[in-house]
Amino acid sequence: MTRDAPFSSGLEAPVLTGAARPGLCTDCGVSRMGDGRACGRACQFIQPDYPGLERATHGRETDPSRGEEGFFGVTTRMMRARLDPPAQGAQWTGITTAVAAELLRDGTVDAVLTMAPDPDDRWKPMPVIVTEPEALAQCRGMRMGYAPLLALLEPARAAGHLRLAIIGIPCQVYALRALEAELGFERLYVIGTPCSDNTTTENFHSFLKLLDARPETISYLEFRADYHVELRFDDGRKARMIPFLQLPISQLPDDFFPMTCKTCVDYTNRLADITVGYMGGDGDQWIISRNARGDEMLSALGDRLTILPLTDKGKRAGAVKGFMENTARAAGGMPLRRMPDWLRPIVSFLQPRIGPRGVEFARTRVEMKAIETVLHLRRAHPARLKNMVPAHVWRLVAPYGLRPDPGERRAEPPPLAPSPPQD
Ligand SMILES: Cc1cc2nc3c(=O)[nH]c(=O)nc-3n(C[C@H](O)[C@H](O)[C@H](O)COP(=O)(O)OP(=O)(O)OC[C@H]3O[C@@H](n4cnc5c(N)ncnc54)[C@H](O)[C@@H]3O)c2cc1C
Ligand code: SF4
Ligand code: SF4
Repeated sequence: MTRDAPFSSGLEAPVLTGAARPGLCTDCGVSRMGDGRACGRACQFIQPDYPGLERATHGRETDPSRGEEGFFGVTTRMMRARLDPPAQGAQWTGITTAVAAELLRDGTVDAVLTMAPDPDDRWKPMPVIVTEPEALAQCRGMRMGYAPLLALLEPARAAGHLRLAIIGIPCQVYALRALEAELGFERLYVIGTPCSDNTTTENFHSFLKLLDARPETISYLEFRADYHVELRFDDGRKARMIPFLQLPISQLPDDFFPMTCKTCVDYTNRLADITVGYMGGDGDQWIISRNARGDEMLSALGDRLTILPLTDKGKRAGAVKGFMENTARAAGGMPLRRMPDWLRPIVSFLQPRIGPRGVEFARTRVEMKAIETVLHLRRAHPARLKNMVPAHVWRLVAPYGLRPDPGERRAEPPPLAPSPPQD
């Protein structure tokens, strides 16, 4: 059954049944699929095996001695880029949906699984099957929250779509890769975005109410790499830029971010064929291609993609250390900076000018996220550290003196011979 929605043809929103699992679960969709035990094999929050899935997906595991891989995972190309002209309604310039549209247009895939805005709430993601390239325009932009994307795999297969592209956030892509071999699709193209600080759509609405007197008119929100949140409105008002330090974080409840998103182990979507974000883009987009399929998707954009030199400025160590101290001090609440109100505008002015930028900004965020994961798990779920925290997270936090205590780290399985990526 497909839900009635005001969408054009080429986009379907099947009604999904089933439920999320209790505990650490972002309702990626696996618990709603036929095999009730699949979560045990597929979940990022149970016992992830990043090296094994990197070998299966990219043909090799992350090599921390190679370029920036220690921070961002297996990489064949990393670039700063923009789509020219930018796509209307996109979160940045629309590279993510443009890549998927090309795959449909040239017949490489039969369908794309992604999120459209729920017709009753534009901030709520709704999983959809897209079969026409033009229909991807309706999926552009960022929604806050999660929805069971992978529950669409079964309806897609039943409809005969055996060559698929999937646009997903890291916890969805981990589960997809863990089950890929048993799913029986002919081809999977995985376009990932980075993801951090997600929360439920309901919580997000309470944040919007704190940001603006007319929250229902906010049509766009982004945490930008220049230390500002950008808000756009659909009532004709000009966009607003709010410095990070002036956000009303102290008014948010301690459980504003769910434990899943405080302890997530993969910021940069290490198992996607290509990751499209903005963190290392210094005002443009930031792309990491991870294997031949990622390179193929990038080439398909041809000269619509303007490629710019990566930038790399500032030093992150002080900012990351300060963040670690604030997170530890907050003991599970919001990591607020100790700073008098009069100083905030001054630091807000200086941050984009002297703070880490470009690739250094991306390294900063990735290290902060890894620190959060370890500190929150130690406090809230200490027994989970051993199985849930992969080696790449321990490597990221080591320079800050965070090392696994006895019993917090499992022995890594011995590396297998590299296997070629699947066609
Ligand atoms: C919750 C969240 C947090 C993010 N945090 C970061 C970050 O810290 N750093 C960073 O570099 N990038 C982050 N991103 C990615 C960033 O917001 C952009 O999506 C990305 O840069 C691609 O921009 P674009 O113009 O190419 O995308 P578009 O062409 O506009 O396409 C965006 C795609 O994302 C999908 N999407 C939107 N919302 C969701 C959702 N809730 N769940 C799953 N898929 C969704 C859409 O369906 C669409 O396919 C985050 C994304 C989300 C959803
Ligand atoms: S695999 Fe997906 S549905 Fe299952 S517990 Fe993990 S996040 Fe939840
Ligand atoms: S922050 Fe991590 S756990 Fe939360 S939605 Fe994003 S990828 Fe999933």
